[in-house]
Amino acid sequence: VIEMGTPERSVVTTCAYCGVGCSFKAELNGDQVVRMVPYKHGEANRGHSCVKGRFAYGYAEHSDRILNPMIRDKITDPWREVTWEEAITHTAQRLKDIQAQYGVKAIGGITSSRCTNEETYLVQKLIRSTFGNNNTDTCARVCHSPTGYGLKTAFGTSAGTQNFDSVEATDVIMVIGANPTDAHPVFASRMKKRLREGAKLIVIDPRRIGLVKSPHIVAQHHLPLRPGTNVAVLSSLAHVIVTEGLMDEEFIRTRCDWDEFQHYAEFISDPRHSPEATAILTGVDAQELRAAARLFATGGNGSIYYGLGVTEHSQGSTTVMAIANLAMMTGNLGKDGVGVNPLRGQNNVQGACDMGSFPHELPGYRHVAEDATREIFEKMWGTKIDPEPGLRIPNMLDAAVDGTFRGLYCQGEDILQSDPDTKHVKAGLEAMDCVIVHDLFLNETANYAHVFLPGSTFLEKDGTFTNAERRINRVRKVMAPKNGYADWEITMMLANAMGSNWTYTHPSQIMDEIAATTPGFANVNYEMLETRGSVQWPCNDDHPDGSPIMHIDDFARGKGKFIVTEYVATDERTGPRFPLLLTTGRILSQYNVGAQTRRTDNVAWHDEDVLEIHPHDAEVRGIQNGQFVRLSSRSGETSLRAQVTDRVSPGVVYTTFHHPETQANVITTDYSDWATNCPEYKVTAVQVALSNGP
Ligand code: SF4
Repeated sequence: VIEMGTPERSVVTTCAYCGVGCSFKAELNGDQVVRMVPYKHGEANRGHSCVKGRFAYGYAEHSDRILNPMIRDKITDPWREVTWEEAITHTAQRLKDIQAQYGVKAIGGITSSRCTNEETYLVQKLIRSTFGNNNTDTCARVCHSPTGYGLKTAFGTSAGTQNFDSVEATDVIMVIGANPTDAHPVFASRMKKRLREGAKLIVIDPRRIGLVKSPHIVAQHHLPLRPGTNVAVLSSLAHVIVTEGLMDEEFIRTRCDWDEFQHYAEFISDPRHSPEATAILTGVDAQELRAAARLFATGGNGSIYYGLGVTEHSQGSTTVMAIANLAMMTGNLGKDGVGVNPLRGQNNVQGACDMGSFPHELPGYRHVAEDATREIFEKMWGTKIDPEPGLRIPNMLDAAVDGTFRGLYCQGEDILQSDPDTKHVKAGLEAMDCVIVHDLFLNETANYAHVFLPGSTFLEKDGTFTNAERRINRVRKVMAPKNGYADWEITMMLANAMGSNWTYTHPSQIMDEIAATTPGFANVNYEMLETRGSVQWPCNDDHPDGSPIMHIDDFARGKGKFIVTEYVATDERTGPRFPLLLTTGRILSQYNVGAQTRRTDNVAWHDEDVLEIHPHDAEVRGIQNGQFVRLSSRSGETSLRAQVTDRVSPGVVYTTFHHPETQANVITTDYSDWATNCPEYKVTAVQVALSNGP
């Protein structure tokens, strides 16, 4: 029971957890938030919310927050609290010294999907215009970078095609590698409403997620594939559609490159993609594959929703392109009720990618090698921009170990806990001369930092987040920053201390600069957002009211592109020592590595990560429900409690990764997506054995 009293005032803002982007009214007494009320006019949530968002304000007040800057010469030294002025001067000098000794490319930075569009824009601007290189990357590297690559290649835009409302007009929902009821609960409620109204459901997931069978909902087809075989399953569905003549030929002829389709059709018609051949590879029943394909092609409006179970694979980008193929061949694009919809994990992962966080792209997904694009930013920033793409996070760490990369500015991202191959991340961080962690708490990465710059929470600043449906939502300052400055101000102080001359006094001016340089944001400004509430990009003279649905008449690239998507097995193999496959996911009450949710009142509902194991696999190992087990892989081992359940198939185990003690990334491999280096978190060969305890 929460004692609230009558709040003195309220401020409407946006949740800082998942990509649904729910609007809330933060109610305050004085400077104290007393509760978060889902905002009924919020276009993404319409008065609904989940437990995470309602309690989010807890971490802003938590005593673990670091509120004063700290520095130290060596990572073995104790931290020393300093003033902001000393911290910024010291940091700027260390970075300048590194560049003087090792060259301008010896430093870089990481933007955060937890920060606002304006803050992310400034971090990549700092790196490109002040550092003078393109060594910028973002946490999307480890989650949805294959979405960016795959959808841009197929459609010409690195974003989902629909708005959330579109689900209300769908007839067949395909969910692949996502667990919306836990990870995107407010959108999942809308999906479930449509399913209760009669829409059909196909779930492609190694695990029997909640949606497969819940009150009044039973999936028509659950395809419990072996982890790592997404491309084979999707190719098999396409094989059935093409060989049985179920495709939408008119759509393909008018909207897509017909020659490319014919080439693709020849490839996909090969018997190696038949359901019978695919069943052997994937473990999915051939009749189920055939029936699911027929339902998706003939059941009316078909929409595809997917998550990290698609992207975090060695074939993540290939899988995204296979999904695009499936949507194009069935004509399921460019109208209500259809589309390809990545369910974004973090609140602003869409925005972080839009704002030019990747080392090869300026804001608006334009390559740094394009002279005309660089000129726009060079004119705006008054500096030259390097035409050569910079380093991705794993390459920065490799270069650090090699001694050529010596300084990292890391905003709102705990790479030691969230990136793969923990040993390699540690080695890279240890090798650097200056690691700057800009965050709310002393996270795991901060153990290897020389500077800690305290960050501000979403309640302490103005700005915008862009959700999974490309909706730009306002974030409004609810209280003064407890650390003294909003994150955008801290980045500006660092840029100016290194020789720039930025003069922003409010984030609205940063958005004006984004609008002036990025065509998809050309008509976006704070005044318009105040009037409209929110808007979906592209929003410009061609689309003055924004774009709830994309690719209506043409694809952003012109004709839709069919891509040959050959299944290639991951190099991660099971064998006698590691006979099971581990895959991972989330639970409703926690968020990612739990740095925020564990510091709020919702923590009581999930206080440890457990390992789901099938009764057969448990029995042969003598494991009973609730016992501690040792989970080991070629990379490392950890210990956690077993939960014996047939939600997972024999041969597959599953855990969440919300608690640092679990150390899931000690287990995972360093395999990654061939196109983007997104880590293959979803497939690890493991062994499970009884252990004595945690
Ligand atoms: Fe909405 Fe996601 Fe926040 Fe929950 S976590 S309130 S679904 S934005």
